Amino acid sequence: MTNFIFKFPSPFTKNTKKPKISIILLDKSDFPNWVKKQDERLQIQIAQNSFKAEPLQTVAILDKYSKLEKIIFGLSQPAYYLDTASIVQHIESNYSKEFIEEHVFEIVSTHEEGVSNKISIGWGLGAYRFDPYKKNDTATPILLWPANADEKEVTATIEAISLLRNLVNTPPNDLGTDELANAAKEVAKHHKAKIKIIHDDDLIKKNFPMIYNVGKASPRRPQLVDIKWGDSSHPKVTIVGKGIIYDTGGLNLKPGQYMRDMKKDMGGAAHALGVAWMLMALNVPIQLRVLLPIAENSVAGNSYRPGDILPTRKGLTVEIEDTDAEGRLVLSDALTYACEENPDLLIDFATLTGAARVGVGYDIPAFFSNNDNYIDELRHSSVEKDDFVWPFPLWDGYNSNLDGDISDIRNEGTGRAGHIEAALFLQRFITPKTDWIHLDCFAWEKNGKAGRPKGGADTGMRAIAQFIKDKYS
Ligand SMILES: [Zn+2]
Repeated sequence: MTNFIFKFPSPFTKNTKKPKISIILLDKSDFPNWVKKQDERLQIQIAQNSFKAEPLQTVAILDKYSKLEKIIFGLSQPAYYLDTASIVQHIESNYSKEFIEEHVFEIVSTHEEGVSNKISIGWGLGAYRFDPYKKNDTATPILLWPANADEKEVTATIEAISLLRNLVNTPPNDLGTDELANAAKEVAKHHKAKIKIIHDDDLIKKNFPMIYNVGKASPRRPQLVDIKWGDSSHPKVTIVGKGIIYDTGGLNLKPGQYMRDMKKDMGGAAHALGVAWMLMALNVPIQLRVLLPIAENSVAGNSYRPGDILPTRKGLTVEIEDTDAEGRLVLSDALTYACEENPDLLIDFATLTGAARVGVGYDIPAFFSNNDNYIDELRHSSVEKDDFVWPFPLWDGYNSNLDGDISDIRNEGTGRAGHIEAALFLQRFITPKTDWIHLDCFAWEKNGKAGRPKGGADTGMRAIAQFIKDKYS
């Protein structure tokens, strides 16, 4: 077991005898009044550093022995959830390991709960490392819990994001289908949820032909994870996550530059587990189910082929246009299975199409819903949580692009809007009375910034967790 998947940062403390260094967080608009009230030594240092409390601007104030006394920092307006990760970065790059370990940091300005939570989450994410494969000897600065922070919510958020990142970052040689299923087992065990796994040939016996066919060419056998948690009298929320542990493209092999980061093709499953972690940790009154179709899209003599016509759990036949459009295939069986239990809300996360990235770039998941009310509600939650998502239409006009010549449907449309066609493909497997949201997300940070290093990243996870909490709490 890759134990580091469940290694989460916890750079907070409650009591300490260590000497404290204060941190003052300022809004730019409050700065002129604030600075007037400070003593001369502080004013000189502020002026000397041209500090104006611009967003993310940082100044270290020294005492008369030139020892670090305070850090003054400009918050974004409104405060952004990664702001304080820049302070962690500042401390780590400017002070020695010994100095950091001998002190504790304390935010002395007070903020309302929402801002305090963001301040704490930013600090926690600033302390995130993925270092099982490369030794990292930096010390993590420890923060006294900020006043008004909801410690449970903050901890659940940091853990869920770290879990997601660790899962996506783990290289594909160490995260096969069994290992991803084992991680799901750990999540279930931690939160006392029930878990069932349908494995390999049993997928055929129990009628999940698509999950089996996509994954059959890999020695790392396909499986379907089914987690259930919560009181059966509560609303039933089912979350499905695409778990392709590696996507070569199959016989429609991806060119090297597009295959390079395909360990992240299980990012949907990582999102589903992350959301589940948050909802269970916060004991949200729902009946939660998580379904993860897990497979490796590999090349071998028994790979499924372009031109194959394959059955689905629902009974529809699909002609394979392209073996690299495998995500929608494994999802089709999982979504059919989900709808058989009539959930009140069905959500799926998938790293699905390049078209979504052309449309809204890497950071913004494209989302779709068959319930128009959810479009504004989810956008509202996404803005509240600094986790922006944007809607696209399930436009019926493109549905015929998916019609097969000699099969019910084809796995790739004939039009240009690949993300819309992929969503319409999935919709064929959703019962019309089921409220459904589909997120086509990237699950990856391309450039890296304080609190959000290059690699596995949440895209839409916090927005969905908030949406569910708003709806059912
Ligand atoms: Zn693919």
